[in-house]
Amino acid sequence: MPARTTIPFDLKALDRDGLAAFVAEQGWPAFRAKQLFGWLYGKGATDFDTITVLPKAMRERLAEVAHIGTIREVQRQVATDGTVKLLYELSTGRRVESVLIPDFDDVSGKAKRLTVCVSSQVGCAMGCHFCATGLMGFHQNLTPGEIYDQVFHLNTLALERFGKGVTNVVFMGMGEPLQNYKAVTAATRLLTDPDALGLSPKRVTISTVGLARRIRTLADDIAAGAVPPVRLAISLHAPTDPQRSAIMPVNRSEKTDLAALKDAVQHYTRTTGQRVTYEYCVFADRNDQPEDARNLARVARWASSKVNLIMYNPVEGTSFTSTGEHALNRFIRVLVDEGVRVTVRRSRGQDIDAACGQLAVLDG
Ligand code: SF4
Repeated sequence: MPARTTIPFDLKALDRDGLAAFVAEQGWPAFRAKQLFGWLYGKGATDFDTITVLPKAMRERLAEVAHIGTIREVQRQVATDGTVKLLYELSTGRRVESVLIPDFDDVSGKAKRLTVCVSSQVGCAMGCHFCATGLMGFHQNLTPGEIYDQVFHLNTLALERFGKGVTNVVFMGMGEPLQNYKAVTAATRLLTDPDALGLSPKRVTISTVGLARRIRTLADDIAAGAVPPVRLAISLHAPTDPQRSAIMPVNRSEKTDLAALKDAVQHYTRTTGQRVTYEYCVFADRNDQPEDARNLARVARWASSKVNLIMYNPVEGTSFTSTGEHALNRFIRVLVDEGVRVTVRRSRGQDIDAACGQLAVLDG
């Protein structure tokens, strides 16, 4: 009979509990699971040989039965404003992008906030008409380890480049995070774990097109303590059903139209006690009129919220353009008069196509 070959599995497919069970199965003492977790996620070990805290026999056994899944940097671009865009290759050979966005203090010139925009899928099935990722279609979900590793890698880069680690993470890169719910929520547990990156949950934001059922699940999981109390942002981009359905196909289903979204958002704010943020790309002549601002204010009043207006970056293959300064200021005035909390996000990393809606890789 031919010898049975063991297919090495990815140790980073296991969460804390999974690692504990694996360590017990091997007949090793329980404290080894905590050590392994710390080295895999806190120190970013990619090779069992480097985990010197473990006895040699244990490292050899690990190498026999498992491997440590990693992502590989294949390209780095730096924009004139300091934004860094990374292209990573996954174990499948497919590629994703993530962006590190520094915010500098006006007086000292030092980075005061370092935000990572992370990808949760290769491509995206949502097909929003203004988005480069949407044009790619869906190719693959990322694992919790692959999501975590984007942030870990950029944290190391941030420390080297800016003398400070990552302060904020936003799930606004490639993909619809709530469509990859299990992996994304597992990644939020890793990101906020004190033995890993230890980020504050309030500095981690999941951004969704508005998958109503999943928003409710997220709220319930946060309330039950199964998911850290991360923040929620909704990519709204249009304040009425006809307008939204025209540019975001997800809105065409009654399970995910504005009425469903309203119910879900109200459930979320009631259950978690947190407000939501509405992301709104202001497009020229599509959603930038005073009437649109009044309709947006109506949405903002569904529950405790704020509105984040985004200056859109044109994407090749689409007909969308950004609104002008005059229309933007008029739009903001209406919102402020309506009592809406509003912020404006200027584009970052435009010269390297790292801005919102611009992330896409060829061939998935
Ligand atoms: Fe997907 Fe977000 Fe792009 Fe819509 S905007 S297609 S949800 S990545």
